Amino acid sequence: MNKTMQHNFIIQSKKQEVPGVTTLSLTLENGSLPEWTAGQYINIHFPDTGTPEGKAYSISSAPHEEVFTLTVRDIGEFSRRLCTAEVGDTILGSLPYGFFAPEYEGTPLVLIASGISITPFRAILQDILHKNPERTVTLFHTIRNSADAIFLEELQKLTLGNFSAYHFVTREDNPTIPHRATRRIHVNDILETVSAPPETEFLLCGNISFTRDIWKALTEAGIHEHNIYTEAFFGH
Ligand SMILES: Cc1cc2nc3c(=O)[nH]c(=O)nc-3n(C[C@H](O)[C@H](O)[C@H](O)COP(=O)(O)OP(=O)(O)OC[C@H]3O[C@@H](n4cnc5c(N)ncnc54)[C@H](O)[C@@H]3O)c2cc1C
Repeated sequence: MNKTMQHNFIIQSKKQEVPGVTTLSLTLENGSLPEWTAGQYINIHFPDTGTPEGKAYSISSAPHEEVFTLTVRDIGEFSRRLCTAEVGDTILGSLPYGFFAPEYEGTPLVLIASGISITPFRAILQDILHKNPERTVTLFHTIRNSADAIFLEELQKLTLGNFSAYHFVTREDNPTIPHRATRRIHVNDILETVSAPPETEFLLCGNISFTRDIWKALTEAGIHEHNIYTEAFFGH
C-alpha cells in the first residue's frame, strides 16, 4: 500500500500534556490502528489550506501500547488545527513511515531532544521498555522552561533497568523541575555523563540548527557519524 496515500483518521481522545501541547489518540475510520514502528511519523493534510504537502507528526506511542497518538505543540497553522480539533473529528493523514530508530538492541543508547521533538523518543523508550528493558538508555531533553517538560512524570516513573533523564532549561532561572543546568546543552555534558563505547548509538531530534550543531560537536568529539541518527522537526 502506498504509504503517502491519504487516509481518514478519527480523533478518539485528547489530552493536554503541558500548556500548549496536546496528545491526540487516533484510529483509522474503521476503528483499527495502522501498522507502525517506534520512531515513525505520519503526514497530516489539510486540503483547504491549499498546501499540497502535508506536515509530519511523529507517533508518540509504541505499537504494543495499542493506541496511536500524536503529540503536538500549538505553534502555527497545522499544529493549531490539530490541537483544537475535537473528539470525533476526521483528519487526513498518510500511513506511518520513516526510519528514525536505533539499529541495535544491546548497545548503549543516547537520546537528545529539544522541546517538542521528544515525541518520537517517547515511542522509542516505551518500545525498549517492552522489548529490552535492561538496555542502557540516557535521555537529554532541552526545554525553555519547566512548563515545557513534556512526559516528565512518565519519564520519572520509567522502569527501564538503566535509564537516566537529564533536563536542560534555557529560559528560566529557577526551574521547578529536576534539572541538570539552566543553559543550553553542550556536547561535553553528554560525553561526561554517558560512557560511550564505540558502538553507542546517538539519536538527535530537534530543529535544524539544534540537530546540526549537536551532530557536528559529537563528530568533532570523535563519535563516528554512522552511530548518529538525526531527525529535524522543522524542515519545512
Ligand atoms: C519528521 C518530523 C516530525 C515532526 N513531529 C512533530 C511532532 O511530533 N509534534 C509537533 O508538534 N511537531 C512535529 N513536527 C513539526 C510539524 O511538522 C510542523 O512543522 C509544526 O507543527 C509547525 O507547523 P504549523 O503549520 O503549525 O506552523 P507554521 O504555520 O508553519 O508556523 C510555524 C511557526 O513557528 C516557527 N517555528 C519554527 N520552529 C519553531 C520552534 N522550534 N518552536 C517554536 N516556533 C518555531 C516558524 O518560524 C513559524 O513561524 C515534525 C516535523 C518533522 C519534519
